[in-house]
Amino acid sequence: QEIIVVDGLQKIYEGNNGTTTAIDSISFSIERGEVVGLLGPNGAGKTTTIKLILGLIEPTDGSIRVNGVDPQVDTKETYRQVSAVLEGARNVYWRLTVRENLRYFSGIQGIHPGEAREEHDRLLSLVDLEHKADEQLRNLSQGMQQKACLACALARETPIVFLDEPTLGLDVEAARDLQNEIQRLAEQEGRTIVLSSHDMDVIQTICDRVIIINNGEIIAEDSVEELLELF
Ligand code: ADP
Ligand code: ADP
Repeated sequence: QEIIVVDGLQKIYEGNNGTTTAIDSISFSIERGEVVGLLGPNGAGKTTTIKLILGLIEPTDGSIRVNGVDPQVDTKETYRQVSAVLEGARNVYWRLTVRENLRYFSGIQGIHPGEAREEHDRLLSLVDLEHKADEQLRNLSQGMQQKACLACALARETPIVFLDEPTLGLDVEAARDLQNEIQRLAEQEGRTIVLSSHDMDVIQTICDRVIIINNGEIIAEDSVEELLELF
């Protein structure tokens, strides 16, 4: 069952010094429960693709469906379907504590506070922030803020999650825990995870499939094993 369908998607940024074609007519689809690696060098168009799927920017051409919804048309429903932790994520509340943020994000998703509490403890433990649960986010180190953002994104329990370099800066054990969690979310809960990473080990361990973007075009789209054979 296809949960993300991108067809002929194009994004041209208009600037003072001319235009940049960030995404040039790309098409792909992602199935429910898949873990997909979105890879490519800096400037390839990954962030643009993700922002288009989130409905944060407007495509120049082409179409996107997220669980049947057009992100340009129904922003609210798209927000219910997708959460994202992008680099420099700022969609959290810096004056609230970690736990208050978690409560807020479960709350807007309509998750009952009683049920959420246990899940929040689990997420705090996953990102090693139990001891910081009652600290305001603005008082945490950058690394801890990143982990808190991850926990908040997962607390929303959306069908689709985008993660930008999720294991970056984590120690070996924390990175392994997170990889296990990502696989569990996909396999047991049927959630769809799209992640970017420069760590081929991470990609090889958890991704069912990778989509490689270069210069705004998809240059490969295959299982990890088949791609490794190419190199
Ligand atoms: P990636 O996430 O793979 O690093 P991006 O999607 O951020 O790639 O960028 C793709 C291309 O679009 C790059 O050439 C980048 O400089 C350009 N770009 C990204 N955002 C903007 C913007 N807001 N205005 C103009 N150009 C942009
Ligand atoms: P990332 O790709 O990791 O998001 P970038 O440096 O490409 O990091 O983007 C940071 C911010 O700057 C984004 O909001 C992006 O839209 C914007 N941006 C990126 N490239 C350009 C550009 N060439 N001109 C204007 N804005 C840009």
